[in-house]
Amino acid sequence: MPVEIRLVPCLSDNYAVLLHEGGITAVIDAPEAAPIEKALDKEGWKLTHILITHHHSDHVDGIPALKKKYGAKVIGPRADGNIPMIDEKVGEGDTVKLGNLTARVLDTPGHTAGHIVYVFDKEKLLFAADTLFVLGCGRAIEKPASVLWQSLLKLRKLPGDMKVYCGHEYTLGNARFALTVDPNNAALKKRLAEVETARAAGKPTVPSLLSEELAANPFMRADDPAIAEAVGMMGADPAAVFAEIRERKNNFKG
Ligand code: ZN
Ligand code: FE
Repeated sequence: MPVEIRLVPCLSDNYAVLLHEGGITAVIDAPEAAPIEKALDKEGWKLTHILITHHHSDHVDGIPALKKKYGAKVIGPRADGNIPMIDEKVGEGDTVKLGNLTARVLDTPGHTAGHIVYVFDKEKLLFAADTLFVLGCGRAIEKPASVLWQSLLKLRKLPGDMKVYCGHEYTLGNARFALTVDPNNAALKKRLAEVETARAAGKPTVPSLLSEELAANPFMRADDPAIAEAVGMMGADPAAVFAEIRERKNNFKG
């Protein structure tokens, strides 16, 4: 049976994702319980696993209510801040078995010290949460930008036909910012138009394809000379260019 996937909008701009296959139903991140319970009820699914990417409250606050109601197993990062009610701690090199589904865990520090992502190689799914956004990336809060850049380089090695699910609907703002540091990128201009159309219709922009991120996401392209040139850093270390565009995004009003 192919895996069934449901995107669940939570809070103001978060996403949780449900995965269902056979007797398994997993949620990736738990921003709040109510919309996740509602989505489960609608499908008649019983939650068996809660996969957490990092400790921020907008990713874990739903855990206690979901665990109480369904008894689901909580799996999360070994090296991050406190994850409520965690049953199994995982990190780089670990695999998570969910019935017939297998996820690989990658450490992607930067946004938080122990942020992890889940890679379902067979199903071609990447759950990147707040490490990699559609056309953006998370703020480097707990580690320097150079560390986050290394994490994005790690994700860049995954197959381009992977679907990228991220933690927030930030795409429109990300796209507008991206154009300021990569103004001549035709793929980006095309994406911005598509994203504007989708958002005007109230549709999510998640997931995207990793290949689309490689083509249009400036944070995945910090070693492209066009971006270095656009920010006046020709010949600079890509990690420094990345830090500069991450800083500019922090201050971007758009
Ligand atoms: Zn976060
Ligand atoms: Fe978040």
